Amino acid sequence: TLLFEALSGRLSGVFDGLAKRGALSEADVMEAMREVRLAMLDADVALPVVKDFVNKVKERAVGAEVLESISPGQAVAKIVNDALIDALGGAGAVPLNLNATPPVPVLMVGLQGSGKTTTSGKIALRLSTRERKKVLLASLDTQRPAAQLQLAQLAEQAHVASLPIVAGQTPVEIAQRAMDVGRREGYDVVILDTAGRLSIDEALMEEVRQVRAVTQPAETLLVVDAMTGQDAVNTAKAFNDAVGVTGVVMTRMDGDARGGAALSMKAITGAPIKLTGSGEKLDALEEFHPERVAGRILG
Ligand code: GDP
Repeated sequence: TLLFEALSGRLSGVFDGLAKRGALSEADVMEAMREVRLAMLDADVALPVVKDFVNKVKERAVGAEVLESISPGQAVAKIVNDALIDALGGAGAVPLNLNATPPVPVLMVGLQGSGKTTTSGKIALRLSTRERKKVLLASLDTQRPAAQLQLAQLAEQAHVASLPIVAGQTPVEIAQRAMDVGRREGYDVVILDTAGRLSIDEALMEEVRQVRAVTQPAETLLVVDAMTGQDAVNTAKAFNDAVGVTGVVMTRMDGDARGGAALSMKAITGAPIKLTGSGEKLDALEEFHPERVAGRILG
């Protein structure tokens, strides 16, 4: 993936330099951390996250234990690796929480164009094939009839059911109908794809809050586009403040974004990245493993 290529290249340079030096002084570590700081800022990591990151690493790295160890360069790299894992959300993927009485509602929220509808289809495919769940997809987008058709087509491709489209219903009415069908027909999971707007507005948030109130979703998943960089983090913060988000799905990880959004998400929004999208196809959905991503960044 191109996502962390630039950051990875810069950090490798820094740590190769440290490793070659053998003995390290406190000044060497400080100089290296200055370079790490610049590399992270260039990768679009949010400033408060960078500051916190660099301070944590310095605190752990400048003691005698590290500097006088057998290979101080490696010891510092290990500290940076651990701090990267922390920033990415901690070790281990955070699984979807479907622990509720079926049909378990999963609410999908996000801005228009983020990949929300596609991701709804991807999650439906994943749950139905890997976990043998009976999944119902429902589009609550009453603004754009095309969005409802798009979801129905994705459902067909994924071989899962979609809620029949009934004109004239409000999003809350569609959500209630989806849950009724889910109960009556024995679905395990009902994925509710809310309308997206071009920008965050109060009407959108109010609609999400109403749907949430009537369905009590086990997960409220925010879909954000990695290509939008810092905006993805700002969007996530706004959604989380307004409606509460239990997890983030970051799409377009296959693009050439600089990756900083993934490193800022947890600290700025409090919500973990649970899944990532890496293409238009329905099987292009992965679990997010912070330790693997950190490993990739440090090469
Ligand atoms: P929505 O408006 O948020 O529902 O967005 P859509 O699901 O309609 O997606 C918008 C476009 O982005 C579509 O052409 C999708 O195929 C594409 N897309 C969605 N996720 C990804 C992804 O992870 N990678 C790439 N390259 N394209 C994606």
